[in-house]
Amino acid sequence: MSKSSKYRFGTKAIHAGVEPDSATGAIMTPIYQTSTYVQSAPGQHRGYEYSRSQNPTRAALEKSIAALENAEFGFCFASGLAAIDAIIKTLKPGDEVVSTNDLYGGTYRIFTNIFKDFGIHFNFIGMQDAATIAQHITDKTKLIWVETPTNPMMNIIDIKAVSEIAKKRKVLLAVDNTFSTPYLQNPLELGADLVMHSITKYIGGHSDVIMGALATNDEQLAHRLKFIQNASGAVPGPQDCFLVLRGIKTLHLRMQRHCENGAAVANFLKSHPKVNKVFWPGFQTHPNHEIASGQMHDFGGMISFSLKENTKEAATEILKRFKLFTLAESLGGVESLSGHPATMTHASIPKAERDKIGLSDSLIRLSVGIEDIEDLIYDLKQALS
Ligand SMILES: *Cc1c(COP(=O)(O)O)cnc(C)c1O
Repeated sequence: MSKSSKYRFGTKAIHAGVEPDSATGAIMTPIYQTSTYVQSAPGQHRGYEYSRSQNPTRAALEKSIAALENAEFGFCFASGLAAIDAIIKTLKPGDEVVSTNDLYGGTYRIFTNIFKDFGIHFNFIGMQDAATIAQHITDKTKLIWVETPTNPMMNIIDIKAVSEIAKKRKVLLAVDNTFSTPYLQNPLELGADLVMHSITKYIGGHSDVIMGALATNDEQLAHRLKFIQNASGAVPGPQDCFLVLRGIKTLHLRMQRHCENGAAVANFLKSHPKVNKVFWPGFQTHPNHEIASGQMHDFGGMISFSLKENTKEAATEILKRFKLFTLAESLGGVESLSGHPATMTHASIPKAERDKIGLSDSLIRLSVGIEDIEDLIYDLKQALS
């Protein structure tokens, strides 16, 4: 099942990349737990030489990811950050990257604390108004990095508008699609050159795997990424690939429920007297609601909110009281999670930078799971009471 597949999303989620095992007919792709493959004569093999380079379980997953993003090429990595690492390794010293200023803390950290020292320059800007991006592009700009919805402020960036600017200036556009998943948003269809996922989150979906992925239709870029994947070696193991293949089969069902529960939670919080502001792109009052409605199929299960009592202590009190919204890093699993960005996921972003984007000390981020909504609302009620 390839890019040209006529099948819809749910069918692709279940079937794409997965062929009955040629040796046994096993309907599920086996876990090929092997590092190497027998050659009948030097250089004579069946397409598999060494598992850093190729592994059949990983190959099935890479095909599945590519199909979900309507891409020709898919690559899996040992983590989302390893996938980002591979993208930045396509650049050279002196190159510039224009990046969203409100982004995953780990992405900010690898950009500023690792790749900056290799001579790559990162320019962090607000992108809610896509037109302002053009003025930050120079002759040296090689990549635009977009995350949308952004983490944790849930801002929306117009992928199509950014892609038009990127194309005009011959700059690559990469989109971190972790929050949306391919169920909600397909950046390549909107003009992006490259899409990145932390599979750890919704795609894996069961909080049991760390993994990342890239997908693209650009053959030259795919070649380079495949080279880096093998040469740098940050590949996932076959057991993890199997778990993700299993997770993907229910991605559409899980996402449907994440979206339903997310909407209910956002609306509950909005009318709560202790809540200052709810950040969720599904509200008509969200500044980029129109763009979100255009480029996303629904609004997802990620929600942030700030408190009227804008202190870390007030947020901590609520976080400690949650029974279902477990306090933990990460997101996108079947179970609901809560987090305090200022001290957890975004602690590596300096306070001055956090304040600039509105990431206040009382901000709480929720990853709304797929439990029964009545129980989730009850948990919020008791924690906020
Ligand atoms: C988690 C996350 C990453 C990093 O992925 P890992 O799998 O944790 O390495 C990147 N971007 C976003 C938006 C994330 O949520």
